[in-house]
Amino acid sequence: MTAATHTARALEARAALSLPYTHVDTLFINGTWTPARGTARNPVADPATGEAWGSVPDGSAEDVDAAVASAQQAFHGQWPRLTPTERAAFLLRIADEVEKRAEELSLTNTRENGSPVSESAGAAANAAGIFRYFASLAGYLEREDVRAFPRGGGESIVRREPVGICALIAPWNFPINLVVIKLAPALLAGCTVVIKPASPTPLSIRIIIDAVAAAGVPAGVVNLVTGSGRLGDALVKHPGVDKVAFTGSTPVGRKIAAACGELLRPVTLELGGKSSAIVLPDADLDAISKVLIRSCMRNTGQTCYISTRILAPASRYSEVVDMVTATVQAGQQGDPLDPNTVFGPCATKAQYRTVLDYVQSAVAEGARATTGGDAASLGGGLEGGYFVKPTVFADVTAPMRISREEIFGPVLGILKYGDIDDAVALANNTEFGLGGLVFGQDQQAALAVADRMDTGSVGINFFASNHAAPFGGRHDSGLGTEYGIEGLNAYLSYKSIHRKR
Ligand code: NDP
Repeated sequence: MTAATHTARALEARAALSLPYTHVDTLFINGTWTPARGTARNPVADPATGEAWGSVPDGSAEDVDAAVASAQQAFHGQWPRLTPTERAAFLLRIADEVEKRAEELSLTNTRENGSPVSESAGAAANAAGIFRYFASLAGYLEREDVRAFPRGGGESIVRREPVGICALIAPWNFPINLVVIKLAPALLAGCTVVIKPASPTPLSIRIIIDAVAAAGVPAGVVNLVTGSGRLGDALVKHPGVDKVAFTGSTPVGRKIAAACGELLRPVTLELGGKSSAIVLPDADLDAISKVLIRSCMRNTGQTCYISTRILAPASRYSEVVDMVTATVQAGQQGDPLDPNTVFGPCATKAQYRTVLDYVQSAVAEGARATTGGDAASLGGGLEGGYFVKPTVFADVTAPMRISREEIFGPVLGILKYGDIDDAVALANNTEFGLGGLVFGQDQQAALAVADRMDTGSVGINFFASNHAAPFGGRHDSGLGTEYGIEGLNAYLSYKSIHRKR
């Protein structure tokens, strides 16, 4: 790995930052920043230094009541009665307002969760793209849908109505876009929402709220509460909530699914993953090297769909190990505020400990670290940061913990396969089913392997989620989909009006 270089000492660089939100005592309810009911607070730490630089209210059940009441009031107002085209115009204005705030969004996001600015710099454009994509679906909602009875004699008018008040709960790894991918379709559908961000990342989302307010969205349509998982639980179970959309871990997803099952409340769950990249025997390793970090270690390995298990043919195993090792070693680890940084810190101290525990388990189970394999101490003001050295393990086998469980850190494992059936069986030998990759020069052969992978998305020679295509997990990776028309449908309730002709 190239030595970390810092253009300025980390603490000085941070002191010079001018961020719109640091220590705040308000929640966004009924169109205004409103003081929280209680006095409890949660700190916000900079994972690159460990320094607590911000704080937010640790909201209470009364705050959730107020936010849901505000969303209910707005749902009884004009918002759901506007035409989809009228709501789409708001989405387009929000997109413009988000783009105006790109730098503050990026820097706040990076200070909250340590995503390198090379990653967070794209957050505003991506969020704006999501708002614009869903705005483009207004025509789908407006199209009259009249279906004849198959045996004749009558017809049914199919109405697509907003499902109601939605609880949007997000994790810390992409704190802006994992809210926006819920917010944009909910708004287009005519729903009103209460957002609960993750405790480590409660500030960047406030900038999205500012964009929503600047776009003129009516009071009460979008509300924000901050607080712990306990607050999330209160929101999920609140009698005034009609639908829950959640991204986060599988264990919390199960609890939410159980609560929603009991309440018969619609729920969308985007959960964890353990995805595989199958390197076919004809793969171009130089080409893989160019997309490897983005596809397999994006955001310092803290991305749900990345393929952290690399399956290499026995005939080319050592070549693949050398390529992956050299590619990871070439990525600079350092201050996430440095535009050249590829690998930042883990987002939280708890996650740092979890990742190091996985690294130790891999060594104990016989995996061979070809690079990394330890905590990193970077100096330059970053001594207190949660840095794990980007790590590659060779000689990984299917039963090892790092091969079965989601690590959510900068750690790759390389497994060996015999033939294609063996590769597909290894890839599908997981409780998850979120992402996956096939690397190969013969497109037809690669597509045939992609078709055999038991997962919600697969990339061929690269991975990127497409706003227009459904994204969701199978098995322990979730329920339902986001993105695309399918993602919009999750915020609709259907009504069929039958009549004689
Ligand atoms: P968690 O599941 O711990 O938390 C996610 C959100 O749920 C947070 O806002 C959290 O609040 C809240 N929460 C915690 N407990 C409850 C509860 N009982 N009821 C309602 N809400 C609750 O996940 P992490 O934040 O740790 O995120 C990392 C995980 O998310 C990884 O496993 C990753 O794979 C997954 N993920 C999945 C993605 C996908 O699209 N499939 C995308 C990104 C991440 P608080 O922070 O206050 O605890």
